[in-house]
Amino acid sequence: MKNKRIKSYRRAMQLYQSSFGFREPYQLLVDAAFLQSCVKQKMDIMARLHDVLQGAVKPMITQCCIQALYDAGSEAQAAVDAAKGFERRKCNHFKARPEDECMLAMAGTENKNRYVFATQSLPLRESLRAVPGSPIIYIARSVMLLESPSNQTLAKKRRVEESKLHVSAEELAVITGKPLPSADPVASTSAAPADDSVAASEGAAEPPKKKKRKGPSGPNPLSVKKKKAKPADPNAGRRPSKREREEDGGESREQKRQREEDGKVVSLAARGEGGEKKKRRRRRKGAATGADGEGGPAGEGGAGSGGEA
Ligand SMILES: [Zn+2]
Repeated sequence: MKNKRIKSYRRAMQLYQSSFGFREPYQLLVDAAFLQSCVKQKMDIMARLHDVLQGAVKPMITQCCIQALYDAGSEAQAAVDAAKGFERRKCNHFKARPEDECMLAMAGTENKNRYVFATQSLPLRESLRAVPGSPIIYIARSVMLLESPSNQTLAKKRRVEESKLHVSAEELAVITGKPLPSADPVASTSAAPADDSVAASEGAAEPPKKKKRKGPSGPNPLSVKKKKAKPADPNAGRRPSKREREEDGGESREQKRQREEDGKVVSLAARGEGGEKKKRRRRRKGAATGADGEGGPAGEGGAGSGGEA
């Protein structure tokens, strides 16, 4: 096989592997005409298939295709013998269908089972080109060839690659925990509306966090404390300095409090005159025999004696 052809086949199979999940051994479906052609050319089928697909091959034949060989009679006996070594693929066609129809049914719309199709039918090859990810092998002038990937296959490959790129960008944003500037437009264009709003809210939530983080790296709180206190709040917990009292119109909060307390004392004392008389009476009754002045507090005693006299 020519070097150039080997290279292009290798590239093609790499595409089928990376974008469509093809793996060795490749599952190969043959039709009756392909097999008959191989036998007629006295080809080493397995060796040629390995060359073309650049890897191990698992040949298969559907029930309908083997039926087509049986129907061909003695002429196809050598091909039937060759097919005996192949895995019989169930196509679930209760009544044998035309081979092209059977093979196309095996491909479905997206060749889910990743078959490689070996066929001599031009209409079938044409139809299979519309199914992305369907490698096609055929024989031309006694040479086994691999069709270059179809336009449908190349288009699907591009879509797969793009989706992979998008996913990786979103994953990157998730991994880093920050919506990257490059990731935002991707999310807004590709993500569903719900996801978009989430991404937007996350984006909105991020900047304040950053500000908070920046805060502690600002001025040292200890250095702030040294500064002259600002009105109201800073004064709440601590005793105002002498200088502050002076600034505060000559009377500080403490002085006000002091004055109020004095007033209370005064008023209490004023009320106390009436109360003390009652108290004194009670005491007189209790301490009739004892010394009057020594028992009670000095103030009361003094007041009492003063009042009495
Ligand atoms: Zn079938």
